[in-house]
Amino acid sequence: MNPGLERWTALSGLLLLLASAQFFCCLGGAAPALPASLLLGAGVTWLIFRAFAPVTLWAVPLAITFTDLAAILIAELGLRPSFALWFCPLLAGGTSLATLVLLRRNQAKCTLCHRHLSRQAVVFRCPRCQNEVCDETCWSFEHRRCQLCLEQRVPVLPISDTWWQKVTGPRMMHGRCQLCLAAPETADLRACPRCRRAQCRSCWDFNNGECARCGETLPELPASLTIAMAKVASAYTTGSTPSRI
Ligand SMILES: [Zn+2]
Ligand SMILES: [Zn+2]
Ligand SMILES: [Zn+2]
Ligand SMILES: [Zn+2]
Repeated sequence: MNPGLERWTALSGLLLLLASAQFFCCLGGAAPALPASLLLGAGVTWLIFRAFAPVTLWAVPLAITFTDLAAILIAELGLRPSFALWFCPLLAGGTSLATLVLLRRNQAKCTLCHRHLSRQAVVFRCPRCQNEVCDETCWSFEHRRCQLCLEQRVPVLPISDTWWQKVTGPRMMHGRCQLCLAAPETADLRACPRCRRAQCRSCWDFNNGECARCGETLPELPASLTIAMAKVASAYTTGSTPSRI
């Protein structure tokens, strides 16, 4: 079934459930109908939020208020009229709004754009700043970091010379960086462990520790980087995007 149609069918089903339950509670008069509207407002909002989040703040309480109003109208016309029953839609709508505000407050948000993230949302943990960001606008698949780290050129590789000495050997005093063409006098050039071509430390970092020529990855990369890269790579090969990285 078309996903859009599926959503509307499920939503209509939930609202129909609300109207039917409210109507049956009205058979017993205002005493059961009023508390029922509170419970139904909160319960149906919770179900809608679980199934359809993120949802617009005003849309759900409004839909619940009008659905409940329809049930009350039918009850008022078909059963013994009661003035107290007219409060049911207000109670259902009010509880729905309060429930939604509470649920949204606890809902995960993208650290950068503050977009509310649904349970099914694709979230990436940036290996550089450790922030969890959405895939829609804040994650760069190409560079495997968040947009902020990309703009600010936040480094991920250790700055300790001991680490560089261990993984690439000593600084190169000849040649040029194969990416930015920097000379050894102005940049710290390090040889690729496999093809021995020179790449400056800044380009090694920007390239996530990969050689631009042969694709070799430096050993002993930070765990956050290897985890993110492995999961993004598995998402590309399986064709499914991981839900949380
Ligand atoms: Zn975002
Ligand atoms: Zn970042
Ligand atoms: Zn370079
Ligand atoms: Zn190489």
